[in-house]
Amino acid sequence: MNFGEINSKFDNLQIEGHFISKKFDKKNFQSSYNLNLMNNKKIIIPQQTHSANVKFSDLPGSIPRCDGVFTSNPELVCSLKVADCMPIYFAHKSKIIFGLVHAGWRGLTSGILKNTGKLLKNLKYELKNFDIVIGPSIQDCCFEIADDIKDHFSEQYLQIKTNGKYRVNIQNIAVDFLIKIGFSKQAIHIIDDCTFCMEEFYYSFRRDNGTQDRMVALIRYKNHNN
Ligand SMILES: [Zn+2]
Repeated sequence: MNFGEINSKFDNLQIEGHFISKKFDKKNFQSSYNLNLMNNKKIIIPQQTHSANVKFSDLPGSIPRCDGVFTSNPELVCSLKVADCMPIYFAHKSKIIFGLVHAGWRGLTSGILKNTGKLLKNLKYELKNFDIVIGPSIQDCCFEIADDIKDHFSEQYLQIKTNGKYRVNIQNIAVDFLIKIGFSKQAIHIIDDCTFCMEEFYYSFRRDNGTQDRMVALIRYKNHNN
């Protein structure tokens, strides 16, 4: 993935998404952003727990038990940490509202996307006015599950393997559901880099035996002093 790839999908040229992979120079990035990723007054940092909770915040700082954040404050940066799960970027086509949602299979099956749609509708935004990018995540080449959790998924997303396990396409589950609740099909894009396959670029929780290393997804409003 090149780093313009996320932004090229946003109609709103003022909204900018980033993905800090293994290869990315964090120091340069932080100085160009003028922020410290670990401790900065401009960042919204959800304390992710694979929950289905999505919050709106116009204040920076940490948000407990939360796996998705939106803001309409142009001075703030939304952030997420991932290593296999999907970082899903949302950018309104014309207004200042943007956010990030962390969706792995648990979040997906417990309703995080449904809650995202609800939150945005409650804030009086039309879902069809958002551009969406699903960032680098584990793809169906590598995401396999055993019988025990298979019933969480509809058959159309499962492919049985010769070892008796199943491949799951979590990106397609997300896209189909987003369309079902009112987001526009044309506005949803998948970056098809597989975090498990592409070891040179990405951390993978599954490949690296439960690694603590994470990539960072960020989204912000550009035309501001941050
Ligand atoms: Zn793969």
